[in-house]
Amino acid sequence: MKIAIIGAGFGGLAAAYDMRKAGHEVVVFESANYVGGLASGFKEPHWDWSVEKFYHHWFQSDASMMGLIQELGLQDKVIFPRPLTVMYFNGKFYPFDSILNALRFPGLGFGLNKIRFGFVGLFLRLTNNWRALEKVTADEWMLKWAGKQVYEQMWKPLLIGKFGPFYKDVNMAWMWARIKARTTRLGTFEGGFQQFADSFAEKLREMGVEIRLGVPIKFIKQNQASGSLNVDVESFDKVLVTTSPSLMAKMCPDLPENYLKGLLELKSMGAVVMVLSLKHQLSEQGYYWFSLPKEAGFPLLALVEHTNFVSKDHFGGDHIIYAGDYLEVGHEYFSLSDEELLERFIPAFKRINPAFEKDWVKKVWVNKTNYAQPVPLVNHSKNIPAIKTPIDGLYFASMSQVYPWDRGTNFAVEIGRRAARIMLG
Ligand SMILES: Cc1cc2nc3c(=O)[nH]c(=O)nc-3n(C[C@H](O)[C@H](O)[C@H](O)COP(=O)(O)OP(=O)(O)OC[C@H]3O[C@@H](n4cnc5c(N)ncnc54)[C@H](O)[C@@H]3O)c2cc1C
Repeated sequence: MKIAIIGAGFGGLAAAYDMRKAGHEVVVFESANYVGGLASGFKEPHWDWSVEKFYHHWFQSDASMMGLIQELGLQDKVIFPRPLTVMYFNGKFYPFDSILNALRFPGLGFGLNKIRFGFVGLFLRLTNNWRALEKVTADEWMLKWAGKQVYEQMWKPLLIGKFGPFYKDVNMAWMWARIKARTTRLGTFEGGFQQFADSFAEKLREMGVEIRLGVPIKFIKQNQASGSLNVDVESFDKVLVTTSPSLMAKMCPDLPENYLKGLLELKSMGAVVMVLSLKHQLSEQGYYWFSLPKEAGFPLLALVEHTNFVSKDHFGGDHIIYAGDYLEVGHEYFSLSDEELLERFIPAFKRINPAFEKDWVKKVWVNKTNYAQPVPLVNHSKNIPAIKTPIDGLYFASMSQVYPWDRGTNFAVEIGRRAARIMLG
């Protein structure tokens, strides 16, 4: 068979790997001039490692990703440093990356609330019944079982940060998936995620996969006479699309109305992430991940000091930080200039380190995407588009379909390989 894959993110690359291994002719079309999609990175001339455009790490439980890396023989390049993540309470940050630190965290007091926090966490780790949890919102469930203080201190800021105006609509299975599938140990690839994507693409090329970069596909249409699919002007037996649902709908307007409507009704949040190279370390305590509650007046959700995770020596001594937020498309952060956005974020940097001055900033890069985080509503499993579309030979695998899991490169690999299995029958 001659197979086209639209998108060279980790979903598309993983699907290409399995379909080529099964002996098929595979062409990957990618609109950007590089592979890696949302997990891609960039490099300054004096850096040895790349930095992801949007902060990325793996969890030890990312079995699909770790399994693929093992198959590719690249497991020696995966590292799991021990970075410190912190939570905010009453003007201070506290480590929150182990059971012991959770027990010490003063935000929950030391009595009943801590017990409720522990029991709710344990229940969510142990249960597999996410279908019951998707029937109710995380807001209702957490208020009932974790209680007002635990919910408002721990979980509500996360929901507000990730989903903004939709935070009360998100179902409890989303929260379950985060707690179930994540570990406190965080990993990365030596050289950065872009290094991994490039090594993977190189391996695919050696296997005979053709990867065409800088080729944005405009339409996919069925050729009624031959039954094949035209990808722009070239004909294929089967096509897998790995873009966002809205781009899929645009590319394939011949899909039946029901399927198209399903694609267009899926909600998602965008993201704006600023990467900064600094002359000095921001968090002198060496903290990596700061979860910042909007209610405490922070103008962003996540502040991540990448060089408190991997050494600054990989970046010619530069200190790398990310300042990011999940936002509704149309939010003003999407249209502010880099300079204006920096001015908004500076007060947050000063709250983390009062010595911070603007002249610490060597350079900033601002990355924006409309499609960063699917929003799972109550009974969301009914809304997930099938991988096999109603058009013969046309398949779709995206972040919006990895539900009940939350999006991530691990699940992009999982769904890419699942799509390949379905396509190969
Ligand atoms: C802010 C942020 C933080 C994240 N943090 C993490 C993390 O810590 N760990 C983690 O594992 N994951 C993280 N993720 C999620 C992870 O990046 C995604 O789940 C994963 O990269 C999705 O892969 P994909 O192949 O499904 O899609 P994508 O990576 O989006 O790939 C789709 C590809 O299709 C291409 N394309 C689009 N239109 C066309 C067209 N018309 N023609 C040809 N090509 C086209 C795009 O350029 C893109 O390369 C994060 C994402 C964001 C936004």
